[in-house]
Amino acid sequence: MERTFIAIKPDGVNRALIGDIISRFEKRGYKLVAMKLLKPSKELAETHYAALSSKPFFAGLVEFICSGPVCAMVWEGTDVVKTGRTMIGATKPTESAPGTIRGDYGIDVGRNVIHGSDAVDTAEREIGIWFKPEELV
Ligand code: ATP
Ligand code: MG
Repeated sequence: MERTFIAIKPDGVNRALIGDIISRFEKRGYKLVAMKLLKPSKELAETHYAALSSKPFFAGLVEFICSGPVCAMVWEGTDVVKTGRTMIGATKPTESAPGTIRGDYGIDVGRNVIHGSDAVDTAEREIGIWFKPEELV
């Protein structure tokens, strides 16, 4: 069964959106197979966002992700990678539709509440970075 990596970023945790976000995925019919709250190390954040290392916002992005607790999760279900991205909405809150997580809660592009894997192979890579195999139930 397909799996995706979802992380509620420090702004989402701070704004007490964990319950709402989990509820959206549960009500959509997806299954939670792993979850933990952690303050990521710089190394973890840099590895996670390695594909963006040449971007001018990379250092700020890594600093932000490490700035507080992140709620890291793995969700499972049919087409969960693509549907998860649809539920999350566009990267820039100005472009994310109402009804999506970012469209309902996003304030700016650097504080966009949540991360979701962008493809099935990316999801496998990200799950391996954030979780040990025995943490998936
Ligand atoms: P994520 O990977 O966090 O789910 P995404 O896939 O929608 O987001 P990416 O292109 O992978 O978007 O960018 C990763 C993150 O980098 C974004 O969520 C955002 O927080 C930050 N980011 C992207 N573009 C910019 C930008 N122009 N300025 C500042 N931050 C940016
Ligand atoms: Mg991305």
